Amino acid sequence: MKGFVREVFASVQGEGLMVGQRMSFVRLLGCNLGCRYCDSTSARSMEGPFLCGSESFENPLSVEFLLDRITEKKVAITGGEPLLQVDFLQELCARLLEHDKYLYLETNGSLPDALGRVIANFRMVCMDFKIPSATGQRPLWDEHAQSLRIAAATGVFVKAVITRDLRPEELSMACEIIARVDKRIPLVIQPVFGQAVGNLLELQAAALESLFDVRVIPQVHKYLGLR
Ligand code: SF4
Repeated sequence: MKGFVREVFASVQGEGLMVGQRMSFVRLLGCNLGCRYCDSTSARSMEGPFLCGSESFENPLSVEFLLDRITEKKVAITGGEPLLQVDFLQELCARLLEHDKYLYLETNGSLPDALGRVIANFRMVCMDFKIPSATGQRPLWDEHAQSLRIAAATGVFVKAVITRDLRPEELSMACEIIARVDKRIPLVIQPVFGQAVGNLLELQAAALESLFDVRVIPQVHKYLGLR
């Protein structure tokens, strides 16, 4: 089996609950969304080469080829949207688990059926709840609710990227969905990079009315000048 992959690299996790931890990042190609703030535009289509350090190879690639390049104990599977290549992802996860890797999934939370097929491989899921005022896309609340119910079987937190255009009802909806699954699931409010979002403390306080753990965390790797 072969898959379409943009890159493998080692860096510091810059988002969410595991911020600061060193990981290998495996960025799969292809995405079913088109968020306005996307900072992974080179991974949104299935086109282009695989990059690793100074090397460049043609896609698609075998799992075996990637394994040699995944150096860290913790592995973040990201994209694009990795669940679009779910068969390849399943094989990749199985091989990584044979090597005792800790697997961390970053997903846009829009593909619950595919998530259900691979969730057992992951120790932690970073699930985006897509906020329409930030993404410019249609709401995905039903997909997010289904995905979160599935991911609650393992470690999971929700990440919501917000802009200063956030509407209060969007945060309320995100909190309501989380609380219905488990109010102990953490919510990370992530202000979009490069924009001052003025009322973060008020937003955090509002979310804490229905959830136990609400954190405000920016994209730390960007402040550090890392990938
Ligand atoms: S889901 Fe992620 S990769 Fe896809 S468009 Fe949105 S931010 Fe970019």
